[in-house]
Amino acid sequence: MDTSADARPDNPKPLSRRQRGSLKTLLSRPSCFGNETGSLPIGEFDTGTASKQVYDAQVLVIGAGGLGCEILKDLAMCGVVNSVVVMDLDTIDVTNLNRQFLFRSKDVGESKAAVAARFINERCPWMNVVPYHGKIQDKDADFYKQFKVVISGLDNVEARRWLNGMIVNLVEFDEDGDPIPETIIPLIDGGTEGFSGQSRMILPRITSCFECSLDAFTPSAAVPLCTIAETPRIPEHCIAYAYVLQWPKEFPDRKLDADSPDDMKWVHSKAVERAEKFGIEGVTYMLTMGVVKNIIPAVASTNAIVSAVCVNEAIKVLSFCSQSLNTYMMYMGSDGIYSHTFVYERKENCPVSSSATHKMSLPSSTTLNALIQQLCDGEFRLKAPSITSSENTLYMRKPMALEKATRKNLDKTLKDLISDGEELTVTDPVFPDTSLGLVIKFED
Ligand SMILES: [Zn+2]
Repeated sequence: MDTSADARPDNPKPLSRRQRGSLKTLLSRPSCFGNETGSLPIGEFDTGTASKQVYDAQVLVIGAGGLGCEILKDLAMCGVVNSVVVMDLDTIDVTNLNRQFLFRSKDVGESKAAVAARFINERCPWMNVVPYHGKIQDKDADFYKQFKVVISGLDNVEARRWLNGMIVNLVEFDEDGDPIPETIIPLIDGGTEGFSGQSRMILPRITSCFECSLDAFTPSAAVPLCTIAETPRIPEHCIAYAYVLQWPKEFPDRKLDADSPDDMKWVHSKAVERAEKFGIEGVTYMLTMGVVKNIIPAVASTNAIVSAVCVNEAIKVLSFCSQSLNTYMMYMGSDGIYSHTFVYERKENCPVSSSATHKMSLPSSTTLNALIQQLCDGEFRLKAPSITSSENTLYMRKPMALEKATRKNLDKTLKDLISDGEELTVTDPVFPDTSLGLVIKFED
């Protein structure tokens, strides 16, 4: 069978009622495995209302790429889902067509969210998919509040941290300090990397959140520039040398376009030269592409499996028809096929899902700049922190006038700025609408 994008019909016929199948039968019969019997119970299965609960729920799908296309298809084919919003900021590239099956050659250059939504709505007339072409950060808490479940098929850690922070923050508490159930929006996070993938259920403030497991994601292996420039050891260093250092020298006015074969051939040939000089083997065109674009090959079957698990969980938390995943499913497909589930524990001092203040011991001679550096490099992995004390703004990135006014503090020492044991408030773009309480103890 020819499965290439060009062999698929441009305008598929709408599916009939009989062709589509439906989970309605399943949702209308009693079950011994209702959600309330599981280890992560959040609701009671009621055969009288389950179908309607799912039909009335607004579902948010983040990402319309490899995972997103699968997620949308799975939601549509359940036959019980109706309202979906899909967000993606990307446009369709020709290299997407081998696995992102909602797109055709004619769609190259168009918005992924818009094309995916149009395709599903035409093919599956019972669906109402609304696209949003843009960043998740464009939307505020009121937007995210309207959904009953969020399924994320994002491919990068930063966006997932932001989304996690947003959804966890939506939880409100009653007078006793307990989370109010109606404000908890389950976040189902799918991720794939080559032949491995995972799907996890995040019940904000109940289970661990994405930030709790940040340690499991190695920070991007940044190679120091001096290694690249002076002592390359592996093919990746030679490729980095060609595109980080040589390209801007040769073409100062033009940014490297990783989608241009001419540009990439240039980088490849320079990397080969460099590798030969240092006796390093293994610089290939594929590796060059991989390093420059930072790509791990996408595998269609992994996307299909992980998305199926995500949508399965979504239907479960919307209808309570079965026990929810508690909390993490791993799939490994590179050496045989293996999958298992385990409970990912909450991190006690998680900066997002716990309200704990964080303590840090530092010499009082530490500069504010060094503290900021530590917040970026240390366990919090912040991106661009701003800091205020109870009385003063120590450093603010925005607006520009305030940045300028507080810049002079960067070189001052902590003892000049704050007192021992003082609590600072740290804000950062990775945590939407929230701040981190940080108590600084002087070591001396
Ligand atoms: Zn957490």
